[in-house]
Amino acid sequence: MNEVKLSKRLEAVAKEIPPQSIVADIGSDHAYLPCYAVLNGIASSAIAGEVVEGPFQSALSKVRECGLENKISVRKGNGLAVIERGEPDAITIAGMGGALIRDILENGKDKLHGVTRLILQPNIGAHNIREWLIENRWELKKELILKEDGKIYEILVAEMGDSLKPYEEKKEHSIFLGPFLIREKSDVFIEKWSYELKNQKRILMQLEQAADTEETKEKRQEILHKIQLIEEVLG
Ligand code: SAM
Repeated sequence: MNEVKLSKRLEAVAKEIPPQSIVADIGSDHAYLPCYAVLNGIASSAIAGEVVEGPFQSALSKVRECGLENKISVRKGNGLAVIERGEPDAITIAGMGGALIRDILENGKDKLHGVTRLILQPNIGAHNIREWLIENRWELKKELILKEDGKIYEILVAEMGDSLKPYEEKKEHSIFLGPFLIREKSDVFIEKWSYELKNQKRILMQLEQAADTEETKEKRQEILHKIQLIEEVLG
């Protein structure tokens, strides 16, 4: 993968960036995504944010190598702290856990003014993001699921709006598995949740052999509930 040929996952994220926008890519590592977006005329300019020194240096080098210093600003900092209020039109956060993406959005809430689209690609725990979107009046507009190199990824696209609209049917199932993804029920979606179902059942079996403490009882209930949600969707 490089800034010319992105991974299938990052290419799918890039496709959701609104044309001619100023995009902030948070957790940018090599800055492949902002470089690709600017080089391909998707974004007019970009900000690449990185909190860790090594990936920050990699992003700086890549932007210099592409000759894009005047179009992409590489900034070191935590989450949305690297952007000014009203600066980007769109934000991409990819390749992290859903809980971390949620925390980045929550901690940087005041920076979201003027942002018209969020494109979020959690590796796991997408439900954390869906819950945050609902609580913060961001309407989930689209969900994608894809498989690359044996791993399954989800992409969530949100815009300000009626945050409850996508969850009119089966709210709890939709938050956990994704309202658009449930409707589409693609082969990749079925593969992901069939695997997850097996995994949860395995954890339950282990918990059934564990001592009967309040904690294990609670954990068993939690897992049983997840199993029920998944089975009801997979049918
Ligand atoms: N976004 C790229 C992608 O999808 O291929 C890189 C993903 S990489 C696994 C996650 C990156 O996010 C790392 O470089 C990490 O240092 C950075 N990161 C993690 N937490 C962050 C935060 N709070 N603010 C900015 N960057 C963060």
